[in-house]
Amino acid sequence: MRAEVLAVGTELLLGQIADTNSSFMGEQLALSGIDCHFQTKVGDNFDRIVLALRTALARSDAVLVCGGLGPTQDDITREAIAAVMNVDLVRDDSVLERIRAMFASRGREMSPNNARQADVPRGAEVIEQRTGTAPGLVCPVGNKVVYAMPGVPYEMQEMMDRAVLPDLRRRAGEPAVIVSRTLRTWGLAESALAELLEPRVEALSRGGQGVPTIAFLASGIEGIKVRLTVKAADGAAGAAALDAEESLVRQVLGEVVFGVDDETMESAVGSLIRGRGWRLALAESLTGGLVASRVVSVPGASEWFAGGVVAYATEVKGSVLGVPSGPVISPATARAMAEGARTLLRAEVGLATTGVAGPASQEGHPPGTVFVGLSIEGGESEAIELRLPGDRERVRQMTVISALSALRRRLLAPVS
Ligand code: ATP
Ligand code: MG
Repeated sequence: MRAEVLAVGTELLLGQIADTNSSFMGEQLALSGIDCHFQTKVGDNFDRIVLALRTALARSDAVLVCGGLGPTQDDITREAIAAVMNVDLVRDDSVLERIRAMFASRGREMSPNNARQADVPRGAEVIEQRTGTAPGLVCPVGNKVVYAMPGVPYEMQEMMDRAVLPDLRRRAGEPAVIVSRTLRTWGLAESALAELLEPRVEALSRGGQGVPTIAFLASGIEGIKVRLTVKAADGAAGAAALDAEESLVRQVLGEVVFGVDDETMESAVGSLIRGRGWRLALAESLTGGLVASRVVSVPGASEWFAGGVVAYATEVKGSVLGVPSGPVISPATARAMAEGARTLLRAEVGLATTGVAGPASQEGHPPGTVFVGLSIEGGESEAIELRLPGDRERVRQMTVISALSALRRRLLAPVS
């Protein structure tokens, strides 16, 4: 069983609203184990909706359409479906009655336009409307099927759940689920990851039920996501297949994997610090509190985050953090800032950032020159030099994630 999604609405093409309906339907199809290889958007134009429907029906067994079932002139989905079915529209009296009753219950008069919503392509089955005025439609086209649902998200979701998915699953026969898991990586380029995992991707390429697939999703400064997906008989079998695949991928990628699914770099750092019963102190110069902001976005951060100092001016680095005079863009300053924050805030772990965000050079260093200071109780302080590309904003954002990643690596390293 192959299904696809067709979202109708000119506003979707113009970017005026985001097509969240397609995401929802895609997710629900996957959870029901139904393959979905295409999602299309089309404007409110009769010929183009007909063309999109014919195209979809030529390559799929089921088409899920949303939008354009309303009462206004530009709502023409039902006409387009009738054309594709090669039938006329007949007014359904019981649907009409429900629309009339719905208006009456709200103390309003039904307009003649609303009666259009009771028009049903001959041979189609009605999905009774519960929350809105437009009913959904189940429209047979040969041995294939088109489902039409309203564009309003909660109306569509309710009909998907109540009528469309059960009908699709019944048509699909064997039950199956598609489950996926995302491994979050940081520090390797997509090409490097792909090269490392190539043998595994190759081995999986014959595909089939129970055999996972691996996909890479670049996520800007947040790194690269490695998504494992598998189709299995049920949730437990799917989870087992993902567990096995995850451990194989982790063997290849090692520490580059910092989290799973919704885990972030800051939450990964947080678990490591909290696990030791420690606390983190920050000293930020060019990041001006951005590291602290990410850290406090983690629920429960108060258990392991002491606080931070935004030491921007040179004299503040000296007077508040006790940084000795000397060049500010330097490993020595980064180390002294981390130690100073740790002492001032009585924490076991200190993390510091100093560098040139740009656009101008500073102390003879070009923009993107950054030093990250790390200080952990009972160990040598260290400084890591970064050369970051991009404009001022990008350098600052990259510094934040790089600093958190450096701290994570340091916390993972065996104590020397
Ligand atoms: P109605 O009966 O309310 O007119 P309809 O079936 O005609 O419903 P549309 O007119 O296409 O649907 O859309 C109604 C509203 O639903 C839109 O204004 C928009 O807010 C929302 N909507 C439509 N399509 C989508 C979509 N693909 N993703 C998210 N929201 C959508
Ligand atoms: Mg409408």
